[in-house]
Amino acid sequence: MSRSDAGRPPLRQRNRPRLRAAAILFLLVSVFVADTITSFEIAMAVFYIVVIVLAVGYVSTRVVIALAGVCVFLTVLSLLMSQHGSFQTGLMNCTISIAAIATTTFLVLKTVAAQAAAFEAQAQMVRMARLTSLGALTASIAHEVNQPLAAIATSGDACRRWLDRDPPNIDKARQAVERIVYDANRASDVIKRVRSLARSGPPRMQVLDINATIGEAVMIAQDELDKNSVSLHLRLTEDLPAISGDKVQILQVLGNLIGNAIDAMRDQPSFKRELEIATMRDDQDRIAITVTDAGIGMKPAALDHLFEAFWTTKEDGMGIGLSISRSIVEAHGGQIAVSSAPRMGATFRISLPIRTGAGA
Ligand code: ADP
Repeated sequence: MSRSDAGRPPLRQRNRPRLRAAAILFLLVSVFVADTITSFEIAMAVFYIVVIVLAVGYVSTRVVIALAGVCVFLTVLSLLMSQHGSFQTGLMNCTISIAAIATTTFLVLKTVAAQAAAFEAQAQMVRMARLTSLGALTASIAHEVNQPLAAIATSGDACRRWLDRDPPNIDKARQAVERIVYDANRASDVIKRVRSLARSGPPRMQVLDINATIGEAVMIAQDELDKNSVSLHLRLTEDLPAISGDKVQILQVLGNLIGNAIDAMRDQPSFKRELEIATMRDDQDRIAITVTDAGIGMKPAALDHLFEAFWTTKEDGMGIGLSISRSIVEAHGGQIAVSSAPRMGATFRISLPIRTGAGA
């Protein structure tokens, strides 16, 4: 499985921008024509909000705002060109449609901005998770980002109620609002995960599917991997028995190893930045996870100190990530080891006992 299989943010839309541009243009013209030839009683212009929703994520904020301006202009133009029905009703429908376009534009842009902030917070979290002493900072970042997200969800609900009023031809408007609410809640879920990672306390053991946990760790690190052009390959053995572990702590270990791998490959040309995470059955009672990078590797002398607290070769490093990782793995009854050579990358191998009775 490649990195792209591991779940990507839906707003990171990358495929077929031309097709999307054509769809937007087609919709724009269709709504304009339909709005102009139908009677004033039919608020066709409200469908311009679909154009806005389609454009968001594909074009810049400025273009979305410009597009909203075009929609408003076309709405007014249709009002002036239409010849059927009561002009007064048409004027009312025109006002409502313009308000719907403006509200939708505002909300979707706010959602996108909040999502960008959420992904930035994710990247920060990957770094912070390696430094548990800075967990409180992560919590405060999460707190700050969560508030606008909650506001978007509230505004989305309010907007839906507003659009539910007469005239009733606003189904598409409602769909757009539901999308806003869905996206806002989704971004909020990301933040909840950040919070849970920052939370410290006694380990909370639960039955863990290690492949699913790795999937989650990858999702958290995805933005950082993308930013550093790291290609990720997941080689996860299916049907592994479950382990018993504290998910937050295991995520912390994986986040730390992934973060270190990214750091180790920073100076490599991007085509060489390959990270592999694999799982396998170690022996009858254990499973193993390996994290292999193609980074700068380590000298034999470094291997002796790697897991010591405050041993670091990085300017901004604290040297506690691996020592914490080792404590966590050992508290789970497992072991962590490394094999590496200079310029040959590094492989970290974690071996964990399977849950008693989880099947041999
Ligand atoms: P920090 O990342 O803050 O330095 P860690 O305890 O996580 O703290 O790592 C300690 C040191 O181990 C790093 O400074 C680096 O020299 C080395 N190291 C860890 N992972 C790797 C890796 N994948 N490749 C090369 N060196 C690594």
